[in-house]
Amino acid sequence: MRVYLQLFFRYLPTFFGKLVNFPNEMEAIIEKPQNTPTFFGHPIGLFVLFFTEMWERFSYYGMRAILLLFLIDKVRGGLGLNETEGAAIYGIYTASVYLLSLPGGWIADTLLGQRKSIWYGGLIIMLGHIILAIPAGPGLFYTGLCVVAMGTGLLKPNISSIVGELYPEGGARKDAGFSIFYMGINLGSLIGISVVGYLGQRVGWHYGFGAAAVAMGLGLITFQILGQRYLGDHGKQVTATTEVEQGSGSNRSLLAFVGLLIGVLLILQWSGVLDMTTAPGLAQAMGTIICLIAVSYFVYILVAGGLDAVEKKRVAVLFVFFMASALFWAGNEQQGSSLQIFADRYTDLNFFGWMVPSSWFQNLNPAFILTFSPVLASLWVFLANRKIDFSVPAKFATSLLLLGLAYVIMVFASRLALSGVKTSPVYLSFTYLFFTLGELFLSPVGLSAFSKLAPRRYTSQLMGLWFVGTSLGNLIAGLFAGGFDEKNVQQMPSMFQSVAYFSLGFGLLLMLLARPLKKWMGGVQ
Ligand code: GLU
Ligand code: ASP
Repeated sequence: MRVYLQLFFRYLPTFFGKLVNFPNEMEAIIEKPQNTPTFFGHPIGLFVLFFTEMWERFSYYGMRAILLLFLIDKVRGGLGLNETEGAAIYGIYTASVYLLSLPGGWIADTLLGQRKSIWYGGLIIMLGHIILAIPAGPGLFYTGLCVVAMGTGLLKPNISSIVGELYPEGGARKDAGFSIFYMGINLGSLIGISVVGYLGQRVGWHYGFGAAAVAMGLGLITFQILGQRYLGDHGKQVTATTEVEQGSGSNRSLLAFVGLLIGVLLILQWSGVLDMTTAPGLAQAMGTIICLIAVSYFVYILVAGGLDAVEKKRVAVLFVFFMASALFWAGNEQQGSSLQIFADRYTDLNFFGWMVPSSWFQNLNPAFILTFSPVLASLWVFLANRKIDFSVPAKFATSLLLLGLAYVIMVFASRLALSGVKTSPVYLSFTYLFFTLGELFLSPVGLSAFSKLAPRRYTSQLMGLWFVGTSLGNLIAGLFAGGFDEKNVQQMPSMFQSVAYFSLGFGLLLMLLARPLKKWMGGVQ
């Protein structure tokens, strides 16, 4: 009880005082807590990041919810592409957003620091959405997509890194911090999909994109006003100070690496394996690049990163997590691709006489996250109190198994759809439920694990790499939906089946490897 009274009288006024910007005299009367001000036991800075990221994700997921529909729309002023091209562009865009986290993390580590990176990243994102809001044809639209992707690359990994920095002691409180932050992400996504999805599908595509720009603007205001007060010096420093860390001694190897990438792509193009003049070919080329970047980065950091033996083992564990996460996101992020098409074409959208915008199905994911985050957080505490060990690798394995189950449901749903009936929304809802539960076993856990296991001087870069896993997953999710054009409907069940097999198979393997992996984590929980 005392804690609640304290919270109410001490911390709430301080917190909301900042929000409404009390004059200084008022602030002086409010008693300040002695140490870093906290709210619900967490640094107030966490909530600044929570709201900033909430608005940023509003813009990202809101826009993404209608992106593929806009790309393939032929009647309401969309770009009128076919499914294969549209899905490939969806994949390239969503993958780029996360891939650019790698340079984004690097820029923060070596040039700007995380705070400035978040600020400039947010500005660039807002500019991108403003460009998307202008209905001026494909050229400008693709430019807008590129701008949003660059801004997100600069913002996304760095905001998560500062969350990690708020808890230098690590441990369960840090996990809880990441879970709260994750709820901010999903709150933003929920509101974003509702608003942008509705505006885009019912009013006009570009109104939806405009709403995303406004949201990012609100995020920037939040970050600027509250960040100065509550984030202290977190994220102001440039952490990589030595030449090795800055990579300045390795310009030649970087050049050689870029040369190698170009060489591989040219060979693939000449040999006819890829055709980069088409969107799907470009998406495949991007997949090749992402895999090469990820593998090379891990090899580089292991061989030439100056790590000691414990750090090397931890980085090796991160590589396994990276692969699991890529596979997980490949299934999960079909929300905006194949599952979106399925919702739009094969699902009964009639809700007591009102036709629900099909993009609103994507709301189920953040809604379930918000509902079940506290449940799972209590589960972790419950298990820890009883000394029942549920290691990070075991959680990753569980998540893949849940993803597999979700797609088993889609196999049945798609078979039903092929028989010509509109499927009940119950199918898609259960699919969302299962893979969202899976997400809670993997995503906040993985974010936190990356920030704990990464050697300090590589934190931002490895955080960036976590998002490269997401990037690869998104790309696969896009490529996958390319098979969903009207001519190929017969293949739907077998396509969903392949996702189910992959996830279940890798999940089982990871379950078997959970113990040794845990040992390699070297005591990090
Ligand atoms: N959906 C979450 C987000 O956008 C998770 C992405 C990820 O961790 O890859 O932040
Ligand atoms: N669950 C996703 C994430 O946590 C959000 C979404 O897909 O709507 O960011």
